[in-house]
Amino acid sequence: MFPTLPFDPSHILISGTWRATAHTLPLVNPSDGSMLCQIARSTKADVDAAVTAAQSAQDGAWGKMTALERGRCLTRLGQLVLDHVDLLTTLETLDVGKPVTQARADAIALARYCEFYGGAADKVHGETIPYLDGYTVYTLREPHGVTGHIVPWNYPMQIIGRSVGAALAMGNACVLKPAEDACLTALMFAHLAKEAGFPDGTLNVIPGLGSEAGAALARHPGVHHLSFTGSVETGKTIQTLAAQNVVPVTLELGGKSPQIVFDDADLDDALPFLVNAGLQNAGQTCSAASRILIQRGVYNEVARRMTDAYHAKTIGPATSNPDIGPLISIRQKARFETLLEAAHTLPCIAETPMPTGLPPGGAYVQPRLYGPVPPDHELAQDELFGPVQVLIPFDTEEDAIQIANGTLYGLVAGVWTANGARQMRLAKALKSGQVFINNYGAGGGVELPFGGIGKSGHGREKGFEALYGFSTLKTVAAKHG
Ligand code: NAD
Repeated sequence: MFPTLPFDPSHILISGTWRATAHTLPLVNPSDGSMLCQIARSTKADVDAAVTAAQSAQDGAWGKMTALERGRCLTRLGQLVLDHVDLLTTLETLDVGKPVTQARADAIALARYCEFYGGAADKVHGETIPYLDGYTVYTLREPHGVTGHIVPWNYPMQIIGRSVGAALAMGNACVLKPAEDACLTALMFAHLAKEAGFPDGTLNVIPGLGSEAGAALARHPGVHHLSFTGSVETGKTIQTLAAQNVVPVTLELGGKSPQIVFDDADLDDALPFLVNAGLQNAGQTCSAASRILIQRGVYNEVARRMTDAYHAKTIGPATSNPDIGPLISIRQKARFETLLEAAHTLPCIAETPMPTGLPPGGAYVQPRLYGPVPPDHELAQDELFGPVQVLIPFDTEEDAIQIANGTLYGLVAGVWTANGARQMRLAKALKSGQVFINNYGAGGGVELPFGGIGKSGHGREKGFEALYGFSTLKTVAAKHG
């Protein structure tokens, strides 16, 4: 049942006030295809108003707050998120089709981002620089001003936490454009931010279509930094739009992330990571481990164990808390199934059984495991954004590195081996924003800088590193003789 909300979900939040828009869009529950509610379809005029509100906050109460006070606002917000975990979980379960346990983990991660960045707000220092005789030189970390945040539907809470959280910590005022497919937790977050005492205009939320509200935000001359997570194609569009205003952009665009299993790996430790990092959120994870590279000596055993794990997974409506819920939409299901046609010549070694009686309007797909798959096959190269993994056998360490680095992406990689020297060699050799050794963190790790190389994007969010990205450096050189 759709919960009672403390705001109208068809409204937008600008300068602390909820307001209606001229047009709305239907928001659909991907578990059964039913309509949850109407959401706003923000226009360019709404985006203009949101950017103006953010600039006013920046010029007014928010811009005057000390780092300590900003941190306290964020810390209070973190507590409010924790106080409302049940409601946030319900909203994400209905809106994204995310199984309850995964939705709850995201809500708790959102609180954790607020805590982390709340604590960090007054701990980012400039430095003093030795210079010429008679000078004192130092640097100041300052906010960009107004930051735009364009967020996808797959992990709304985590992505809002990592980008908006860090931007607020550094004193930026934010305009948040959540995805048209899932925006309820973004609205709830904005409601809680109001309660936490952020001055009006500090966080403005404008749901709507990417081609309308998103594009208007990306090209807005009043925005001083853009953070985008989503598809490569949209990322390119956003970078092009931002270039017209010469504005910095953080792009997080997904990947084709490998986990590499050597013959000496502890397979009991590895197995849950190998499978869950591919199937979590029905495979709709930018850092999903969609390629599993396995050294020949353990190939058959890993394939057998992963097959068993696929057979044991459950599929169902998100509210029934299965292992795997639906994809985000019927549109995304159609896209995924079209991409999967490329697999028709490959050996499919496991399928999770599809239960009977699923709601007919739900966007369900069957998780599939393929192997062995040639490393240059489309299924081993392209991001499908669904519950599919490919197994790729290899012989030597050199082969593993070459295959792992052999896509256009580079977001996350995992290495499973007991050999310490090999761990260090692989950590250096892998072209990837993150390398996990004997573990794998698809999406996890609030404290850990995260971002890609190649078509996975550029810029880093999460951890302290994000605070540098969401601020600009001023050098002050004083000549005093
Ligand atoms: P998308 O990239 O089109 O949408 C992501 C966000 O960008 C949404 O808020 C959307 O409204 C906005 N947007 C879309 N077009 C825009 C534009 N022209 N200007 C400004 N903002 C715009 O993603 P999608 O269509 O929802 O999904 C398509 C594919 O993208 C997926 O199948 C998947 O491969 C990829 N994707 C990746 C991630 C990730 O975490 N890396 C997340 C979501 C989707």
